[in-house]
Amino acid sequence: MSEVDFVKCACPDCVCVIAPAKAVEQDGSLYCADACAHGHANGAGCDHVGCGCQG
Ligand SMILES: [Zn+2]
Ligand SMILES: [Zn+2]
Ligand SMILES: [Zn+2]
Repeated sequence: MSEVDFVKCACPDCVCVIAPAKAVEQDGSLYCADACAHGHANGAGCDHVGCGCQG
């Protein structure tokens, strides 16, 4: 089974859904962007339309 499944970003406030192949992996979790993967350490959002996550 190698279907492309989409997973939700592991950032709790993030509503983004990404393909695992394009996700940013951090500590075994998949994130939609570097900002999410790093816990929004610098206060930046993921820059995806409709998502207001900033950690
Ligand atoms: Zn997001
Ligand atoms: Zn995210
Ligand atoms: Zn996020």
